[in-house]
Amino acid sequence: MSLIVVGTMAFDDIETPFGKSDRIIGGSATYVAYAASNFIQPIQQVSIVGNDFPAEEMDSLKKRGVQLEGVEVVPDKKSFFWSGRYHMDMNTRDTLVTDLNVLADFNPVIPESYQQAEFLMLGNLMPKLQKAVIEQMKKRPKLIVLDTMNFWMETAMDDLKEVLTMVDVLLINDSEARQLSNEFSLVKAANKILAMGPRYLIIKKGEHGALLFHENSVFFAPALPLEEVFDPTGAGDTFAGGFIGHIAKTKDVSFENMKTAIIVGSAMASFCVEKFGAQRLKEISKEDIEARLDAFVQLVNFDIDLVA
Ligand code: AMP
Repeated sequence: MSLIVVGTMAFDDIETPFGKSDRIIGGSATYVAYAASNFIQPIQQVSIVGNDFPAEEMDSLKKRGVQLEGVEVVPDKKSFFWSGRYHMDMNTRDTLVTDLNVLADFNPVIPESYQQAEFLMLGNLMPKLQKAVIEQMKKRPKLIVLDTMNFWMETAMDDLKEVLTMVDVLLINDSEARQLSNEFSLVKAANKILAMGPRYLIIKKGEHGALLFHENSVFFAPALPLEEVFDPTGAGDTFAGGFIGHIAKTKDVSFENMKTAIIVGSAMASFCVEKFGAQRLKEISKEDIEARLDAFVQLVNFDIDLVA
């Protein structure tokens, strides 16, 4: 029983209205692995880094049950670098720099030892690489989840549409759902996107929670109202890690269980935003996660007496 996580391992420069951080560790696969490892181990990581990626970061992932055989280390190049600046609402951001570096010639190879994985999380990455990974799996995993972003919609829409036909769950935010579907209504957008391939669609709405669409059903998970939101970077990937971590732990791919999984995803994302980068994810314990899940239950738990 294991989970393959594919995506970037990166350096990020982040600017929020509350502060600035230079070159901290980020990347879609890093956040997914930190979140998912609370629920399932081993995690079989597939990524690429340059000679600048710190050994202590690799060790810290290994200690959490993250296998790194599928992480290529390129000796004479730099790791992927991304920099972004958040607006005052913290829900929107501008990408300032995307330096592909090692990612420019990445050819992900799935090691033989990963071939038995039952779950595949395709974190944000070039769509054609996400497709190449699916094609290497000798046995189709039980559930394939795909995360992507506006950057790939702008630069690789055809590849993205192709990979959408091969996955079970798509995770995007509301503006990306609108961009992908050309629809303003999220219900219309969801119908169009579900017709593109995935059977399940999760639309993340930042501090306004997340929606799970499947056939004609929709389920809503709130985001926990937090006193401090310090840095939203990685919240989407952390949500994805909590979601797939819960599914992989329970091995249940039903719609009912996906409802629980998006609550778990929301709980994990609520930790991520409390500090810069993945810092908070490195600190939290099982007890912290349980208490946070309980706060979610309290948030939406109410009795209602319907007058006949
Ligand atoms: P999120 O805030 O969940 O969208 O994730 C932010 C993380 O994604 C950062 O740590 C970046 O290193 C990484 N990232 C940013 N742009 C890309 C991209 N185009 N492809 C893959 N990963 C990216």
